[in-house]
Amino acid sequence: MPAELLEGKIVAEKVLRELSTALSSLVQRPGLAIIQVGEDPASLIYVRKKVEACARWGLKAERIGFPLDVTIRTLQAKIEELNAREDVDGIIVQLPLPLHLDVEAIVRVISPDKDVDGFHPLNIGLLTRKTPRFIPGTPLGILHMLKHHHIPVAGKHAVIVGRSNIVGRPLAQLLLNHDATVTVCHSKTKELASLTVQADILISAVGKPGLITSAMVKQDAVVIDVGTSRVDGKLRGDVDFEEVRKKASFITPVPGGVGPMTVAMLMKNTVDAYRRRH
Ligand code: NAP
Repeated sequence: MPAELLEGKIVAEKVLRELSTALSSLVQRPGLAIIQVGEDPASLIYVRKKVEACARWGLKAERIGFPLDVTIRTLQAKIEELNAREDVDGIIVQLPLPLHLDVEAIVRVISPDKDVDGFHPLNIGLLTRKTPRFIPGTPLGILHMLKHHHIPVAGKHAVIVGRSNIVGRPLAQLLLNHDATVTVCHSKTKELASLTVQADILISAVGKPGLITSAMVKQDAVVIDVGTSRVDGKLRGDVDFEEVRKKASFITPVPGGVGPMTVAMLMKNTVDAYRRRH
């Protein structure tokens, strides 16, 4: 039997429908400010999706664009202004940033109470201490999708390929908090396949199409593909979907898997930020 699809698109719709019902009882519309530097085509698409989702589900989104050569001081000043604004509940900076801008020095300026991407060191620390406030959207979306499909995490061996600050690391912490046994792999990992093949839950967040082959997957594993790369104009994940689907019990498609969940969790975090402030 081919694996059951973990259709993030459908789960995200459900989350957002529930969220919009809850929104109708709020006095104001929660506000999300999105800072974007430059016009990287992929970033433009991601920002547009976030703005459209906000408009559709009843949040107020404001995109603030800057040219590629913007200084760090200008960005920090804008964030400070947004921190002080009553009508802004969440602030995010679309990544990646140009190399001359120090991401850490920018993220640290965002008020932890408005850090709906969950990248501020305080929020990362709170997640690590198992007292989270805002959890980054992609890890949170993955957990939500597993719960929605009644896939147990406790006691399972989760193998994560990729250790970025936005996906791999916070996901490892989140799954550990939910009692998984977690292995994190990266570009220096030796014998990657010998680790992935042990996974009850295998998550790949690398951005290399075809990295995860069927031989690297345990029979009946749950396979989550975070990777998104453009190949010949089409979006592709890290996983050899057609072959791995024959072996896994559950698998996420790309597109329509993790991506929509990430956007939904950003919106959920923004509504949570509003509620915390009012
Ligand atoms: P990133 O910062 O570039 O991190 C990639 C990670 O993959 C790094 O930890 C790197 O190891 C590791 N890696 C690279 N080559 C490897 C290999 N051959 N074997 C094992 N590990 C390897 O990327 P990211 O921001 O986490 O994003 C990863 C992918 O997910 C991208 O395709 C991105 O577009 C996608 N993404 C999707 C969503 C979504 O919502 N669908 C959200 C975020 C990201 P080192 O640390 O050693 O360099």
